[in-house]
Amino acid sequence: MTARLTVLAGPTAVGKGTVAAWIREHHPEVWLSVSATTRPARPGEIDGVHYRFLSGDEFARQVREGEMLEWAVVHGRASYGTPRGPVIEALAQGKLPLLEIDLQGARQVRASMPQARSVFLAPPSWDELVNRLVGRGTETAEERAVRLDTAKVEMAAQQEFDHVIVNDDIRRAAEELVSLMRSH
Ligand code: 5GP
Repeated sequence: MTARLTVLAGPTAVGKGTVAAWIREHHPEVWLSVSATTRPARPGEIDGVHYRFLSGDEFARQVREGEMLEWAVVHGRASYGTPRGPVIEALAQGKLPLLEIDLQGARQVRASMPQARSVFLAPPSWDELVNRLVGRGTETAEERAVRLDTAKVEMAAQQEFDHVIVNDDIRRAAEELVSLMRSH
């Protein structure tokens, strides 16, 4: 049995990061890729654990030299990418590798590694996603409209994925994902 890469993507605010954090804490047998990013670390984030925090120049160099398996500018703000070497190594060692990335990145991985399994994390309903997106009340009406348009486009992408998991409950969704990863 050869190890298979799993890619988890989904619309903004669906809770991918929370599901990934749950898996990191409860499933040490899953190997979570540490992404590189040009955004600054948030309080509590550790370099090399949550992200590799890189300068714009260093990120560009790694892209140029083919060191990223995929990469994208997310929300027009910062670059994010998956370092290729550690993923290849994890696969070679028969680990269960998981990438939590955005939709653009998921498409790139599907193109370059067709054997990868792609999983779309979906909200329980459209209204639920809208609540999560606009619920904070910190955005202007215009910003909210842009985010909702983005979410619509992102939701339409779910047909491209091998599996859809509904994030009705973080623990349940995470367990469904881990059993899916173990199933081959
Ligand atoms: P945050 O800055 O909130 O940690 O993450 C913002 C977004 O970046 C999330 O949607 C997350 O899925 C995406 N992201 C994180 N790492 C990667 C990566 O390596 N590649 C791509 N394409 N997106 C990523």
